[in-house]
Amino acid sequence: MVMARRRKFWGWGYEDEQPSHAEVERAAAGVRAHLGFGAGEVERPVSLGALQLPAPRLEPPASLAHLCRSDPYERAAHAYGRSYRDLVRAFRGRFDHPPDVVAHPTDEADIERVLAWCAEVGAAAIPFGGGTSVVGGVEPAVTDDYTGALTVDLKALDRVLEIDRVSRAARIQAGALGPVLEAQLKQHGLTLRHYPQSFELSTLGGWIATRAAGHFATLHTHVDDFVESVRALTPRGAWESRRLPSSGAGPSPDRLLIGSEGILGVITEAWVRVRAAPRFRASAGVLFPDFGAGAGAVRELAQSGLHPSNCRLLDAGEAALTGAAPEGRALLVLGFESADHPLDAWMDRAVECCRDHGGDLPAAPALSARGEAEGAWRDAFTQMPYLRDVMVAAGILAETFESAITWDRLDAFVADVGERTRAALGDGAVHCRLTHAYPDGAAPYFTVLAPARRGGELEQWHEVKAAAAEAILAAGGTITHHHAVGREHRPWYDRQRPEPFAAALCAAKAAVDPGAILNPGVLIDP
Ligand SMILES: Cc1cc2nc3c(=O)[nH]c(=O)nc-3n(C[C@H](O)[C@H](O)[C@H](O)COP(=O)(O)OP(=O)(O)OC[C@H]3O[C@@H](n4cnc5c(N)ncnc54)[C@H](O)[C@@H]3O)c2cc1C
Repeated sequence: MVMARRRKFWGWGYEDEQPSHAEVERAAAGVRAHLGFGAGEVERPVSLGALQLPAPRLEPPASLAHLCRSDPYERAAHAYGRSYRDLVRAFRGRFDHPPDVVAHPTDEADIERVLAWCAEVGAAAIPFGGGTSVVGGVEPAVTDDYTGALTVDLKALDRVLEIDRVSRAARIQAGALGPVLEAQLKQHGLTLRHYPQSFELSTLGGWIATRAAGHFATLHTHVDDFVESVRALTPRGAWESRRLPSSGAGPSPDRLLIGSEGILGVITEAWVRVRAAPRFRASAGVLFPDFGAGAGAVRELAQSGLHPSNCRLLDAGEAALTGAAPEGRALLVLGFESADHPLDAWMDRAVECCRDHGGDLPAAPALSARGEAEGAWRDAFTQMPYLRDVMVAAGILAETFESAITWDRLDAFVADVGERTRAALGDGAVHCRLTHAYPDGAAPYFTVLAPARRGGELEQWHEVKAAAAEAILAAGGTITHHHAVGREHRPWYDRQRPEPFAAALCAAKAAVDPGAILNPGVLIDP
């Protein structure tokens, strides 16, 4: 019998990938030496057998029993997303409000029946894709107004259902994990090429529900750009938009679902724009004397119409940390990709722009495979989620937050937010990179690394998070460029959005979800 791989209930990856404690200790020693802090015992995660979960409050009817699980593994594995706060709580075995029941529907009829039962008994229903939310988006922290919470895990809906070669589009079920949908598209010689850092463990439906941003640093940054139409099930029936390349017919029904974070309906499938795999690549690592000079180059590139696929600027601290640049220099990781044409001319012009801003290329651009700087950056990018588990065990606070701001305010924004976060942090480091760039602005992404206050990590995290979020709002940025709102960003999102819009969103929810069962507490109060 083939056993399905199980995800770790507390951290990143699968159970069979968990290194031994001796290996974690060795990795922790390496990380501590590299960062210059982190001390004390390397802790072990709580074991499944030691978990003490509150008793489930819901008992599904016999007609749904075959879809539902309430065992400790299922409840713990669906209790949190994967923010630092989530990792710490799960690592230590603190599960205050796991879901009472986890449903695993296999088709739309199952979802309809599950939602109908939740509405009937007054339980909250929480859509769950890959569970990689970093904003409390899947955490069943619901009020006592609900009889309990049921998580709807969508991963069984993982098929590419249809391909339209003429229009280059594919109809894909929402529960498909990144690698699962890409493997199916590859059989047709196609690809979606939407690679968030969480690609391995997140789903198409989750990307759409959170407006995720992928590896394209310019042009097609958010998943929004790939969505042709969406289908969702609401408690009031199916919401499906027409397949259209574009439409000017009033407010977009897609747009309301994209970013709805599970409060309006369960997204079951979408038509997405796909493409041929790139045959041509060009990449270069460009060093700058400082972040400001690099940002000047990124702005020129973003306004040039060259549309680099990669255009990530790492400040000197972060560049040194990833081992991709010498001490004291900011690094721009620049890349182009195309299925159609060689990219020499694009790269030549981009290098000219960089040189105009003081950029220095230690090596000639790589024009076929990935260059050294892009390779080093990519390795660090894909390994980081695994490393965070080691950091929690090693007593290192590791958190990231991101925003977006127009170019005219970027320098002051990065300085203010960095300074106020550093002040709240005390010991430790705050690094910044630009992950996505637009003609009128960019998305600064901050990484916070600090010695954790053992046993007081959650309070420490809260102090830093609040200081950073306040600084972002005060400096005119958005509380999130691509990590979504969830439950954790609510205090700041509530202040950012226009009040009439909040009222309109509440009214839209009341219209499609009259019992307010879908993901209560996310985005708005029902
Ligand atoms: C290490 C790490 C790296 C990350 N990197 C990125 C990145 O590069 N770019 C980025 O944008 N984000 C990133 N994230 C955040 C996260 O991966 C994204 O928000 C992602 O889109 C969530 O997808 P998911 O399938 O895991 O959704 P989940 O975490 O399961 O759910 C997220 C939200 O969407 C809702 N939801 C999920 N599926 C559906 C559905 N089918 N219908 C309706 N609602 C649904 C949930 O209720 C919840 O509110 C990262 C997270 C981690 C931990």
